[in-house]
Amino acid sequence: MSAELQDLYQEMILDHNRRPRNFRAIADARHAEGYNPLCGDRITVYLTVGDGGTITDVSFQGSGCAISKASASLMTESIKGKTVEEAQALFERFQRMITASGETPIDDLGKLTVLAGVRQFPVRVKCASLAWHTLRAAVDARNEVVSTE
Ligand code: ZN
Repeated sequence: MSAELQDLYQEMILDHNRRPRNFRAIADARHAEGYNPLCGDRITVYLTVGDGGTITDVSFQGSGCAISKASASLMTESIKGKTVEEAQALFERFQRMITASGETPIDDLGKLTVLAGVRQFPVRVKCASLAWHTLRAAVDARNEVVSTE
């Protein structure tokens, strides 16, 4: 990664930390809470899923380091309008990107690519993936409700 690109990514992370997108609760939405004790990041992810498993709305609230907040913000922007399965597939690619060794070519994941630099800081991987793990828990919470039929 060039120094210029790294600076640009850093800027975008700081911007999402300062002005997180979709930073709100959604009333009556399924939700889950996530906690990263290594860093102290706490987050609640809310989502609504429509017909065909499409994520119609997603948001988050919480407090934590710049990486955890920016990652949650970028996640909400990246998965709105996708299906739950597509979001899960994106999570797997994202997880691979941030845990790969430094020499591995960086997968183009749109805006999520700005977090690729996390791979150089293993302690930050949990900060970057917290929102995604919490999203998965929120999806599963809904599945329990659905299984009443
Ligand atoms: Zn953190």
